Amino acid sequence: MKCVFCGNQLTKDTQTIERRINNHLIYIKNVPVDLCNFCGEVYVDDNIVSEMNQILQKQKQISNTITVDFKTFREQSAANFNDVSRQNHYNLVTT
Ligand SMILES: [Zn+2]
Repeated sequence: MKCVFCGNQLTKDTQTIERRINNHLIYIKNVPVDLCNFCGEVYVDDNIVSEMNQILQKQKQISNTITVDFKTFREQSAANFNDVSRQNHYNLVTT
């Protein structure tokens, strides 16, 4: 994949992506992106965008700027998916 602005080859990277919901800023850390090292343009995959939207949906009660970790969210989603029976105790285990 190449940068649409400068034609440079993109490299895989992780970035902190800034999103806005109800006028609150949310920083999502460790988002997998394609980065142009030449002009700094960041490309986020559609799948990643929908995963970020899931993260944002879970942050409805926020009242301040917060930071969430994309990687952690993904790991937690995977854990929930793989072991539904553990879900009842999930919060106790992870916090
Ligand atoms: Zn570029």
